[in-house]
Amino acid sequence: MEGTQMKTADILIVNGDVFTGDRRKPHYRPGAVAIKDSIIVGVGHESEMLSSYQASRKIDAGGALVHPGLIETHLHMTGMAYHGAPFSPQTGAKTKLNYTSLKAATNPTITAAYSAAAACSVLQRGFTLFFEPGTVFETDAFAESMTKCGVRAMVSAPNGWDDLSTYEEYWPHMVSEEVKKRAPADARRVIDQCKREIARNKDENALVRGYVCLYGEGTATDDLTREAVKLATESNVVFWQHQSFVPEFVREEKKKRGDSGAVRMHRLGALNPNTTLAHMNVLDEEDIELILLNKPGLSWCPNNALGYRVTPPHKCWFPYLYKNGVSVSLGVDTTLIHPIGIAGLLGLYLSASFGERLNDADPFYMQTIDAANNVGLGDKLGSLTVGKRADVVIREARDITHLSWRDDTGILLSLSSSMIPVDTVIIDGRIVMEKGRLTTMDQDAILAEAIRQRDLLANRLST
Ligand SMILES: [Zn+2]
Repeated sequence: MEGTQMKTADILIVNGDVFTGDRRKPHYRPGAVAIKDSIIVGVGHESEMLSSYQASRKIDAGGALVHPGLIETHLHMTGMAYHGAPFSPQTGAKTKLNYTSLKAATNPTITAAYSAAAACSVLQRGFTLFFEPGTVFETDAFAESMTKCGVRAMVSAPNGWDDLSTYEEYWPHMVSEEVKKRAPADARRVIDQCKREIARNKDENALVRGYVCLYGEGTATDDLTREAVKLATESNVVFWQHQSFVPEFVREEKKKRGDSGAVRMHRLGALNPNTTLAHMNVLDEEDIELILLNKPGLSWCPNNALGYRVTPPHKCWFPYLYKNGVSVSLGVDTTLIHPIGIAGLLGLYLSASFGERLNDADPFYMQTIDAANNVGLGDKLGSLTVGKRADVVIREARDITHLSWRDDTGILLSLSSSMIPVDTVIIDGRIVMEKGRLTTMDQDAILAEAIRQRDLLANRLST
């Protein structure tokens, strides 16, 4: 086969240990991936791919792991940004400088600086989509920074709520006067802002997309929840919210709204595959039955379940639900205390400690194809499949972690837990990281600016 019969590609990745994220064709070793424009045009055994494709650029993966970009389905920008800020997450509202005061004191310059640093950080761990669950005030600055760095993100209205009575009673440190001033408990404000974010999706190539987000945990009335769900359906985007994190929220939601969790979501028409509920730690048999029947996406945060000790007597249902066809993805929620990627390993151990161990490969799929489904982009992202957008990660070739595993599931576990350094990242067909360094922007300058803005903010709040 020569010349005219060859198909053309922009990039051909060869000599890869390719895990596709597609359970029907999971693995090629040595494998190759062909990319043209922003799309994956070929995936397969290296020899077949080499005889089929002529590429303007060939990347030799050197035997390294090649996989679809991981998708983090619950990561607050503010938690991401305050690494190294001079306060402890445990100090609450006792000091002037705390998590809530920092969250409310941002401006476009600060958010732009943090977002760029966050973009570098997610890439270095093999993640290509940053799902911000409705806590960024300056959404344009966030979107602009992510786009400049070449990283995908999803963004929505900040603090989508219209009734704060439960929070004010139980977690007052989370709703300071400043936060309420910037994000009033007002249904109109929330819906209008969601619409504004969803307008980003008019450009089908936009790296940053909008969706519908409510804060959740009983902070939205039935009316707001119904309207938000309707907007998500009409706009063809996911509806996402925090739900059933700790027992007191479930109890209070039941007291105020008459029901809670999956039962309430079902009553409000929200329990379907277009909805993703984050946490879902405290569930009873009725919730489980409804989830199995209606298949909403679940965004599991095992590190926070462990951190807040939402463990027995509350059963960890995720392995059971996952084995029975529910789409479960992972998120670290607040990276101030939990680094990105840790959810894979902790999810596995948490499941094992509850008597129903996940398969070692499950966290990989939870962070690729299941995650893509849970953010509403399962047809475009989440696996190395012909026709999908080209978001591809190549790990370092000579890392001992890769060599030490004897089977594929072990490799997938270390891969999905960010144990193996990242070399190259391609997003939408564009190389955005090479040799572990950002290609789109000056990474050192980004980090220096993020530190400078963090310190300026801390000084301003302390005085
Ligand atoms: Zn959260």
